[in-house]
Amino acid sequence: MQRLRFQMIAGFVLLLLPAFWISLNRPGLSALALLWVVGGGYLLIRFYLDPMEKLWKTMRSFDPEIQYVTYKKFLKKVYHHLNAQEERIDREKKGREDVESILFSMVEGVVATDSSGRISFLNPTAERLFQIEHGSALGKYPREVWREFELVEMFHQVFVTGQPQSREFQLDLPPKSYLKVEIIPIRYGEDEEVQGVLAMVRDITRVRRLETIRTDFVANVSHELRTPLTSIKGFIETLLDGGLESRETTKRFLTIMYQETERFNRLISDLLDLSQIESGQAELSRNKLYLAPLVEDVRLTLQERLTEKNISLSVELGPTPVWADEDQIREVLVNLIENALKYSTAGGHIKVQEYNSGDQQEFIICDTGIGIPKDSIPRIFERFYRVDKARSREMGGTGLGLSIVKHIIERHDGRVWVESELGKGSCFHFTLTKYQEERGKG
Ligand code: ADP
Repeated sequence: MQRLRFQMIAGFVLLLLPAFWISLNRPGLSALALLWVVGGGYLLIRFYLDPMEKLWKTMRSFDPEIQYVTYKKFLKKVYHHLNAQEERIDREKKGREDVESILFSMVEGVVATDSSGRISFLNPTAERLFQIEHGSALGKYPREVWREFELVEMFHQVFVTGQPQSREFQLDLPPKSYLKVEIIPIRYGEDEEVQGVLAMVRDITRVRRLETIRTDFVANVSHELRTPLTSIKGFIETLLDGGLESRETTKRFLTIMYQETERFNRLISDLLDLSQIESGQAELSRNKLYLAPLVEDVRLTLQERLTEKNISLSVELGPTPVWADEDQIREVLVNLIENALKYSTAGGHIKVQEYNSGDQQEFIICDTGIGIPKDSIPRIFERFYRVDKARSREMGGTGLGLSIVKHIIERHDGRVWVESELGKGSCFHFTLTKYQEERGKG
């Protein structure tokens, strides 16, 4: 404003001063001075009025009443109009920032292209999912960013045909990941031309992995169930084919068939346990719990087999209670101690100990058994994983015990792991939350 004021004063001074000087010093040239003042005055007025006129014309399109107002009112209206515009721009800016922050924090990836087909927006999730360096894809065509031909083609097709498309991709990058991409055209009106495309990207790697696990699980279960059934069927056929004539053969076959039925039974009951624990149906009823008496119960159940194999079981458990579900922890102990017994050679030793570990109590069950090969250790808690299938079967194993243990301990917010040396023995560790009297829980 200061500058404008100075400009106007300088204009008038430049206009009047020479005319004033001429009329004082050269009265003969006063006509020239008058011409100077009139001409210069006109130009000066035009200089300031022209933009005003433009403004007036523009304002008239917003407010037709402006024709009839005075100069002062006109300026007032301009002032109010500018204020309203400023507020509208602020509102729009805020709206745009809100939309941007939503897009930026979305768990889905979002990619948009403009009317030239170049990428105009890419949120951080999309950059992470496609492993693109921040900002590096902006302004590029999809074909310059992705190696997956089908994905590039999808962007192109939606842009050209205006038809939405949806497809799943396996990315050509490690780690192996699967993405679901849905692309829709951007139009500003129903019958308008396509102005760009908008892609929504979801990571479906976990879903795909779960599907594979489920298919593998069904295949494993069918296989496991078929094995004892095939064996039973085989023995029945042999018996029907004349085996019944020998009392001794009949007895031997019936004994094997009984064992196979037992295994079948165990498998079904392990599967039911596992599905109940996994689905959360088996409710956790956590209480103050001492493990020593539970281990003694397990010892009693296994006593016959322990004596038979001449295996000793020593228990070094103190009086520290934990906050846990008695039935489920009993199942953990049965599985781990029974495994220690199953995979130990005659004359071995099993030891149950505990360690204080802050607000957790760590329990360790060690045996002097056959041990576990190093490469099997990471897989040992998987369903149906067995180091030696034949041996496990021979021992009446189902391959589900350790996965049941893992689920139970994890539901108790604990951890389970194994340390083992082939030919020397194994130690299974698990942690449980200590019971705390003052809080009445863990
Ligand atoms: P299984 O019914 O076959 O025993 P688990 O899930 O309990 O199934 O155990 C899985 C596999 O882990 C077993 O087949 C065995 O190979 C191995 N394993 C488990 N516990 C021990 C152990 N104490 N010593 C050696 N190997 C073990």
